[in-house]
Amino acid sequence: MSGFSVLVADDSPVYRKLVEQALSQESCSVMFANSGQQAIEIFEREHPSLVITDWVMPDLTGIELCQKIRAGAGSPYTYIIILTSNAEKENVVQGFSAGADDYLTKPFDRNELLARVRVGHRLIDLHRQIEAKNRLLEELALTDSLTGLPNRRAIEAWAERQLSGAARHGFPLWVVLIDLDRFKRVNDAYGHDAGDMVLKRFAEILKANTRHSDISGRIGGEEFLQVLTHADESNVRVVVERVREQFAAEQFKWGGKTVSVTASFGIAGFWGKTAPEFSKLVSQADAALYRSKDHGRNRIEVEPLVPA
Ligand code: GH3
Ligand code: MG
Ligand code: MG
Repeated sequence: MSGFSVLVADDSPVYRKLVEQALSQESCSVMFANSGQQAIEIFEREHPSLVITDWVMPDLTGIELCQKIRAGAGSPYTYIIILTSNAEKENVVQGFSAGADDYLTKPFDRNELLARVRVGHRLIDLHRQIEAKNRLLEELALTDSLTGLPNRRAIEAWAERQLSGAARHGFPLWVVLIDLDRFKRVNDAYGHDAGDMVLKRFAEILKANTRHSDISGRIGGEEFLQVLTHADESNVRVVVERVREQFAAEQFKWGGKTVSVTASFGIAGFWGKTAPEFSKLVSQADAALYRSKDHGRNRIEVEPLVPA
């Protein structure tokens, strides 16, 4: 977790000093702004965890500063404490509705300020933990746990974006649907763990043959999907042929036997001005895959490009 930093915005040098003294007992880095504008500049550059702001400053009120900070959505949460000489209830309400988390009246008691800063610190720590957990969950929701490859959801989200880019900028996009051959037999003969080992090895080969700007993943059972962009049909065939060959050449050793497994591939592509639904491309690739299976497996079939 990154350090706890505090921005103090106050046009009064005396109050800046008083806050500084109060915070000297807290382990945090402190920055100072002597105007609202400067506070915004520092805020945007440094993203402090907590802001202590004066109510009235010559260029900008603490309320306006609050509103500006809250308007910047997407950034990590900032805890805001307003310092005001004016304790009238209506002002306090105004401060809270502008997004302040707490307020303190001037002159303040340094222990009270410190205590309130610590409340803010606790809340910010919790926020950061939740954010980190959310990032992890998001990653897990998009990852196939067996192979570590992107899952169906991740590929679909990526492909939808790429498809509109392909239509707008006029580059081709290819979908390769892959299904391992006679995979049930592997499980039946050598067990589920042996089957899992094959799936992981195929995933490694597929990943090694996927550019960083493309994507490949496992979409279910023994089915994989690769999406390639900025390549013509012959390039795609070369890549897919390499995957097919490398996988077929793998030798798995179980129970004193050497076993090889193969996969079948179906390819469909789009190159045009009107992007089809991604699912439509996948079903075209599925039709090609079906032909691969039908024509003996361990092979590649390509659906002809339909101009769109
Ligand atoms: P085909 O060549 O026609 O595709 O035959 P197949 O046996 O590969 O196809 P089928 O759909 O009949 O069987 C797929 C098998 O994949 C059945 C299932 O046991 C196995 N499978 C699916 N998911 C997993 C998994 O996560 N781990 C393991 N080990 N096996 C799996
Ligand atoms: Mg299958
Ligand atoms: Mg299969």
